[in-house]
Amino acid sequence: MVGVLTLIVLWVQNPLYKELNPVHKYLANNIVDKWEAKILTMDADRRAIVDYDTLFAELNFFEKRLVKKVFDINPADLGFRGKFFSLEKPNNLKLIESVTLIDKDGEEYKTGIQYAPPHVYIDFVKMNKQMQSDIGKKLFIDSGYRSQGRQAYLFFFYLVRSNNYSLSENAKWIAMPGYSEHGDPIRTSLDLVNENGINGFNKGQTAADFENLKEYEWLLRNASTFNFYISFPKENEKGVVFEPWHWHWNGPDSLVNQTKLSGVSIN
Ligand SMILES: [Zn+2]
Repeated sequence: MVGVLTLIVLWVQNPLYKELNPVHKYLANNIVDKWEAKILTMDADRRAIVDYDTLFAELNFFEKRLVKKVFDINPADLGFRGKFFSLEKPNNLKLIESVTLIDKDGEEYKTGIQYAPPHVYIDFVKMNKQMQSDIGKKLFIDSGYRSQGRQAYLFFFYLVRSNNYSLSENAKWIAMPGYSEHGDPIRTSLDLVNENGINGFNKGQTAADFENLKEYEWLLRNASTFNFYISFPKENEKGVVFEPWHWHWNGPDSLVNQTKLSGVSIN
């Protein structure tokens, strides 16, 4: 009886910022497992833009309640000082085919199918061409536009698998839905990866691995010409870790282009 009461008390508690309680940990694990399984059943071109309601419907009553409580937290209370962007869906997106890269151990790394608004994609292509002609190297889009569902999945994925169930630690690495520049349907951010699969976090890499790339040095000097700006430099004021791979498209309104390239509308 005492055991059951303890479980109930832990369940009704608000999530603890420094480390989830055992009941919330158990539920968070189930949430990630269910969402991962659901996403794997989807066509590869739907995974980056998975619908939030579709994922939410996979959960039981207890899991739903935890998700709601977690996303009801004001990220500022977790130490995040970035702003709210958007939960609007884009009018159209350019589909960017998955690319298979080979890392230094000869292993394959796949970017998965990604999306970006047409104007962001066009500037990325221009930038990449210039980089190639300047230093003979090019970059690939490792993560582009993400739906609210994708962001929710990633938030719980990193909470459970990387950040030891600490909401405040997690907030340094991954934004809540609505607070990610990846979810901005117009001024979208891109995460970039080089030809050898160096993205600064895969397979034990650190930000320094990306920081030491010639491609990064080139971006620092030239990206703004193509309307890309680094969002999270070292010791940034947004409370987010150094992310040399993450570049925010922030061009003038006159460049915002909703012309349909080959891709999908997710409205
Ligand atoms: Zn990013």
